Amino acid sequence: MRTPIRVTKMDAGKTAGGSTRKKRNGPKTAPTLPLQHRPRKRFGQNFLHDQNVIARIIDTISPQSEDHLLEIGPGQGALTRYLIDSCKTLDSVELDRDLVAQLQQTFADKKHFKVYQQDILKFDINQLTDNPKTLRVIGNLPYNISTPVLFHLLKHHQLIKDMTFMLQLEVVNRLSAGVGDKNYGRLGLMVQYFCQVEHLFNVPSAAFTPQPKVSSAIVRLTPHQTLPLLARDVNCLKIVIRTAFTQRRKTLKNSLRSLISEQQLDELDLDIKLRPENLSLADYVKISDSISDQ
Ligand code: SAM
Repeated sequence: MRTPIRVTKMDAGKTAGGSTRKKRNGPKTAPTLPLQHRPRKRFGQNFLHDQNVIARIIDTISPQSEDHLLEIGPGQGALTRYLIDSCKTLDSVELDRDLVAQLQQTFADKKHFKVYQQDILKFDINQLTDNPKTLRVIGNLPYNISTPVLFHLLKHHQLIKDMTFMLQLEVVNRLSAGVGDKNYGRLGLMVQYFCQVEHLFNVPSAAFTPQPKVSSAIVRLTPHQTLPLLARDVNCLKIVIRTAFTQRRKTLKNSLRSLISEQQLDELDLDIKLRPENLSLADYVKISDSISDQ
């Protein structure tokens, strides 16, 4: 059964928040963090304050009473305080010691809540669970490390049920880009290999304190139940895609010259005059398998 959360659904629309929307009040009982905190740029701290946006994110996540959540960078608890009573376990990883102390104090009575003072890039997700497709990962991510965070999480894709992130809009466009799109490239291809990608809605900069200089969006990544395309060697696939897009204006034949011969490419029935952005993920898997079979 769905656990009731004390925020209501927002109107449908592509953009959440914004000055024209009526402000929604959070639950009266939601714990607030006690101390003033000066945002640290080096930790990518842009704290969410817009209650409409927060409500829409919580609705999107739709936490359930049996859920095991992992929040990356809970910060001042803008999302945490609405998630905490609607799940079974809430683990979180926060780098900033001051915020960790505040979070521990604020949520001291919540025994199912744990905050690890650690860098998420060094955090071993295996310590949280052994059960496949268990973790629901959430985060308004620090934009300066969002791509490495995604690659770090993908290493554990078997443990993850879904991931809902606030990211730079430009990154979300890259994640969801299809063949031929100007944003199509290494990041989107590798994430799409492991996950279904949904660009859910955009978030205005005014929703944060301080306001980021870039636009933001919410994306959901759902690891495939079984991978629809299976490369024989995923590291080889990574290398092929990286090499192709390092020289994205070149034709396939030229950009992959160091990895595969023209004759071998011909045998794959691909148009070798195509550019990297014209090849599908299935094409890249085909090339990668041909190389790893050698
Ligand atoms: N979730 C809060 C919110 O929505 O207001 C804060 C989001 S803020 C954009 C990013 C958070 O990630 C900050 O609290 C920051 O300290 C934390 N953070 C930055 N780098 C981190 C890292 N390497 N590992 C874990 N947390 C990190």
